[in-house]
Amino acid sequence: MLKLYNTLTKSVEEFVPNAEGKVSMYTCGPTVYHYAHIGNLRSYICEDVLEKTLRYIGYDVKRVMNITDVGHLSGDSDDGEDKMVKGAQREHKTVMEIAKFYTDAFFEDCRKLNIKRPDVVEPATNCIDEFIHMIEVLLEKGYAYKAGENVYFDTSRLGEYFKFGNQNEEELYVGVRDDVTEDTNKRNKNDFVLWFTKSKFEDQALKWDSPWGVGYPGWHIECSCISMKHLGEYIDIHCGGVDNIFPHHTNEIAQSESYLGHKWCNYWFHVHHLNDREGKMSKSKGTFLTVSVVEEKGYDPLLYRFFCLQSHYRKPLEFSWDALDNTKVAFDKLKNRAIAIAEEAVSAGKAVKTELQGAADDGEKKYVYKVNDGAADQAVFDEYRQKFADALSADINTSTAITVLYDVLKADTDAATKLALITSFDEVLGLDLNIGREAAGQKVDAELEKYILEQIELRKAAKKEKNFAEADRIRAKLQSEGIILEDTREGVKWHLA
Ligand code: AMP
Ligand code: ZN
Repeated sequence: MLKLYNTLTKSVEEFVPNAEGKVSMYTCGPTVYHYAHIGNLRSYICEDVLEKTLRYIGYDVKRVMNITDVGHLSGDSDDGEDKMVKGAQREHKTVMEIAKFYTDAFFEDCRKLNIKRPDVVEPATNCIDEFIHMIEVLLEKGYAYKAGENVYFDTSRLGEYFKFGNQNEEELYVGVRDDVTEDTNKRNKNDFVLWFTKSKFEDQALKWDSPWGVGYPGWHIECSCISMKHLGEYIDIHCGGVDNIFPHHTNEIAQSESYLGHKWCNYWFHVHHLNDREGKMSKSKGTFLTVSVVEEKGYDPLLYRFFCLQSHYRKPLEFSWDALDNTKVAFDKLKNRAIAIAEEAVSAGKAVKTELQGAADDGEKKYVYKVNDGAADQAVFDEYRQKFADALSADINTSTAITVLYDVLKADTDAATKLALITSFDEVLGLDLNIGREAAGQKVDAELEKYILEQIELRKAAKKEKNFAEADRIRAKLQSEGIILEDTREGVKWHLA
């Protein structure tokens, strides 16, 4: 039974989807005016783990994500310039060029972090007709009004606007910001724009015809419409970072439920922020860390994924290079151990190792290990798989799930069963634990090479004397040191794990 914290009820609840066995899931996608920073990507990693957990425990998931390529102003409360326009000006490109470039860059980052692409990805600029239709219905129903040539949502028409219940925090949040300029068209402080034909910035690049004049949509309407277009009138889970709770998700609920006339989404999943020493990492601060920076400093992007998985998604996470270095020690050990187990299963004839074609980065070979059908001990496999699923089902407790993985590594069972479990867990963890790498022309210092060759000779001698226990001991010792031996027709070969 999956239990999830629901921001709507502020409690951990049993998850019950609308349709048995099926989950509809919506995720707020990136605003594509710049690279995603590793804070944004923390949210996407945690949401990816949620989706994969749902699949792991047997649900059929349909996940939809928007791409914000219009309407997101630099202030979340409809003030400031359009972020896309600012991005285009910064780079002397058109808005659509910027959108394409940063959408591609986002999915490239996701690929490196093993974040699965959602089943449907829809840019906001694809759905202008849907936005216009929803706004027309909201006007007809009396939930919206025209003022100053814009269309606004009338929050005073709602019995309860602050669905997440944290009105005081929200007032404080808007109140303390110095860049908030009062929009005198608004009847109520929290009303928000559904359609702009007039903003104080006249340079909006993308505009469309509408019943209210040539203009462009507000930010919030896109998520309501894109979600309904692909998932229908009811959704099970809506995700985003905690900064989306207000105003974005509060406004999404207001307009969706007013339009539909019934409750829209049952579970709200919010990921807490990645902070650096100065506080929340944010794109608008100008300096922020990206996956490219992580790579340029010589780290594997999956190390960052592991870093995120070690903490709970509902706790703020502080990033520092020192913290990443500490994680690297543990991650390298974990990977070496997993590959050593995989090699042992191959040596025992219980698994195969295949080169991954086309998957290698420059000069590197990658191998995937797959345990043979029926080679694992089914009872042990089932026991640990259940423990892993239970950890994740307790509000996506990734650090406990990782502890189960460590338990498997040291469990009293054979390598094939361990490899089967590692491979299974990696469906959710996404750390490539069953994938080995070998740098082309891998440089090993002369001393190490001499030592390895000596050990190979000793092992050969032991085998000749039919002392197989000693031969196996030497192989295992080398393996624990990250040196893998392979017996081939051409003789013994070795490589580093
Ligand atoms: P944006 O591209 O700004 O629309 O944000 C994309 C996603 O990243 C949203 O779900 C945000 O809530 C989330 N997000 C923004 N900043 C952070 C942060 N520092 N840590 C975690 N998630 C964040
Ligand atoms: Zn959204």
